[in-house]
Amino acid sequence: MNNPLQNQDKITFASLENGEASILFIEATHTVAEAARIHQTSPVCTAALGRTLIAAAMVAARNKDDRASVTVSINGGGPIGKLTAVSDGKTVKGTLGANRLELPLREDGKLNVGAAVGKDGFLTVVKDLRMKTPYVGQTELISGELAEDFAYYFATSEQQPCLVSLGVLVSGDTVLSAGGVMIAPMPGCSEKTIENLEMRSMFCADISRELSYDPAAVLIEKWFEGMQPQILDTQPLEYRCNCSRYKMEAALLSLGKKELQGILEDEQEGAELVCHFCHKKYHFNDADIRGLMQREEAEDDTAV
Ligand code: ZN
Repeated sequence: MNNPLQNQDKITFASLENGEASILFIEATHTVAEAARIHQTSPVCTAALGRTLIAAAMVAARNKDDRASVTVSINGGGPIGKLTAVSDGKTVKGTLGANRLELPLREDGKLNVGAAVGKDGFLTVVKDLRMKTPYVGQTELISGELAEDFAYYFATSEQQPCLVSLGVLVSGDTVLSAGGVMIAPMPGCSEKTIENLEMRSMFCADISRELSYDPAAVLIEKWFEGMQPQILDTQPLEYRCNCSRYKMEAALLSLGKKELQGILEDEQEGAELVCHFCHKKYHFNDADIRGLMQREEAEDDTAV
């Protein structure tokens, strides 16, 4: 069988009980492995960044307008620092403060993401829906483990009660599997269906381990047997950065004239900018910077 999505991450949209509940299932093993490769993360950092990437894709995939871009940031005061992920629902990229943290495992043997992230802070979601002002939602962190933090965000900020599970399974530096699921009752969902969902929520508690055996389509069938699971759509997901020299020029200019003048006058030739999301390097020599400053001045003139 030649299925183009077979060796690729994907997002699966499904319904239960003829639309009484919806499922958004994300398979993200390759995406998280790529993030770990770029950022050279330790296991607990891979798990924290991976869960953030999966959740950002989840928030973005819910948008009907596929040009919309979502930026998720988590700052819980823990030693990992700030976690950021940007997604349009088809691609995702992210960055983090500290990449090599080593923390003791939790009592249940899982990576201690909560201790790395901390819970003294906020989860912030900025949605750029290509309108004048972006939508900003912010909720307090509950545990820093991220799945319940995102469930709380969906319930309070998007008025969508749901169950969220996020997981990354690592062995040393290798990402074995990663994924997430969001199960949400739709308006008019019966009590019986809600009870059924709560009962089955335990199946998704170990989502990354389950995904190391079976793909999403099989797990949906298995977990929700008897609830009329129906797959509605799938779309690919990958780690991709869209940085460019043009965007880096804008970042350089945003430093301001004084700072740029300082770069020209210091001993070193030019400046090197590194993309936070993919670590690609962009070099600007003194002549490039002078050219940018002149162009900026010319643009200022025309704006007057
Ligand atoms: Zn980049």
